[in-house]
Amino acid sequence: MTTLLQEIQRARAIATATPRGLFTAGEWRDAEGARVLGVEDPATGETVAEVADASEKDALAAVAAAADAQQAWAATPPRERGEILYRAFALVLERREDLARLMTLEMGKSLAESRAEITYAAEFLRWFSEEAVRIDGGYLVAPGGGSRVLVMRQPVGVCLLVTPWNFPLAMGTRKIGPALAAGCTVVVKPAKQTPLSMLAFAGILAEAGVPAGVVNVVTTSTSGPVTAAMMADGRVRKISFTGSTEVGRVLLRQAADNVLRTSMELGGNAPFLVFDDADLDAAVEGAVLAKMRNVGEACTAANRFYVHEAVAEPFAAALAERLAAMTVGHGLDPATDVGPLIDANAVGSVAGLVADAVDGGAQVRTGGAALDRDGHFYAPTVLTGVSPDARSVREEIFGPVAPLVTFRDEDEVIARANDSEYGLASYVFTESLDRGLRVTERLQAGMVGLNQGIVSNPAAPFGGVKQSGTGREGGFTGIEEYLDVKYASVRVRS
Ligand code: NAD
Repeated sequence: MTTLLQEIQRARAIATATPRGLFTAGEWRDAEGARVLGVEDPATGETVAEVADASEKDALAAVAAAADAQQAWAATPPRERGEILYRAFALVLERREDLARLMTLEMGKSLAESRAEITYAAEFLRWFSEEAVRIDGGYLVAPGGGSRVLVMRQPVGVCLLVTPWNFPLAMGTRKIGPALAAGCTVVVKPAKQTPLSMLAFAGILAEAGVPAGVVNVVTTSTSGPVTAAMMADGRVRKISFTGSTEVGRVLLRQAADNVLRTSMELGGNAPFLVFDDADLDAAVEGAVLAKMRNVGEACTAANRFYVHEAVAEPFAAALAERLAAMTVGHGLDPATDVGPLIDANAVGSVAGLVADAVDGGAQVRTGGAALDRDGHFYAPTVLTGVSPDARSVREEIFGPVAPLVTFRDEDEVIARANDSEYGLASYVFTESLDRGLRVTERLQAGMVGLNQGIVSNPAAPFGGVKQSGTGREGGFTGIEEYLDVKYASVRVRS
């Protein structure tokens, strides 16, 4: 049996073998001044790798490479683009074990969760390999006769793709897949905490046959100025961003200067509604998934639980029992269910939200504290009797904490669920079909899990309303984000 130490050594060896440079025009190169940034294992706080730390000049070189490759890639037959994506899909699955170890090393989540993310990430490549050949258009006889309306879809051009640390690969493939399928070239800027997964993937894309310059990867510790410089370059035509609403707002303002196309996948504050007619076992199972997936560090994470007062106690007791039974530890330990949070700030922020709830009268049913050990661990936590105005109910928690609030009737709980600037995911548990559909229609959210704790699916349109963003990724609409519509008015003489 391999020990944790051996697992860590194996993961570190994979990190050592992963390219650490900037990937520009099909080549690995150093950042200006050979600057590097350190990547930390959040379970130990140790630096496990150093990657290139790009300057604005480096980033503009990547934009130039993408712009140079744009025309030829757009002219590459759709079937060929699709086949390259399909090869990338197969290679990612083939390398799943190594990629999962690399991901756990830099991000912290358990190996089982990293494997699940790699599969999810790969599925976007397969889905969009199939979509590349289904970009359609239209033909219409103008109502007045005489001319014809010919509609075509063409690639937007060079796209800047900015991704967060919580899903280091899937948030990238969800953008790279449709962009490449549509015929766009890209510059990807992963989060500084988790650059290794994207660098490993860049190597896989090259191996799959993606031509030089079509995908470029820029890692940097100075996201603000580096991204701003690229957005100000007239050759960039689109920004697709996944991250916090706060940064999304900044990017939307910057995008205005060059009137860029934008897709924004931003923060969430998902309500999880349990009605008195719910199947309680299914609701608890769904709650564990919706809360604990990715250590609670997911934009779709159930953030606030509204439980009907008639079932509040058995639901709380069962959820607390399930969370208390989870093993917290290094993600590379096969026994681990729950890994560390990303950094010390995240632990501080979660602790602050719990303290606020307790000050407001909440009871800690399980957890309620950071773990006293190296790394950034917080115990899975269930809080009951939480005030509807508590910060943990109003703000994105991004950690393993479930605040429970009780309610009495449907209108009241819908009003509370909708009382948020966010509108990404929502969850509803009820055995009544009428109620399920009625509530789903009234919830202000881009996605609803009806009797289900997971909404992410490459075949579905993923995205939010209100301040959770604009645009949809995945599904049939995902590729539209990377296509412009052009129409030709054609005169036809009779
Ligand atoms: P973040 O907004 O801090 O960072 C996201 C990315 O933006 C990173 O690459 C970061 O380096 C970069 N960035 C930071 N400041 C920037 C700036 N001024 N200009 C340009 N780029 C900048 O978010 P995070 O902490 O990495 O991720 C967590 C957030 O992402 C949460 O709010 C979560 O809900 C959200 N998220 C949303 C989705 C979705 O699909 N809606 C998916 C995953 C995460």
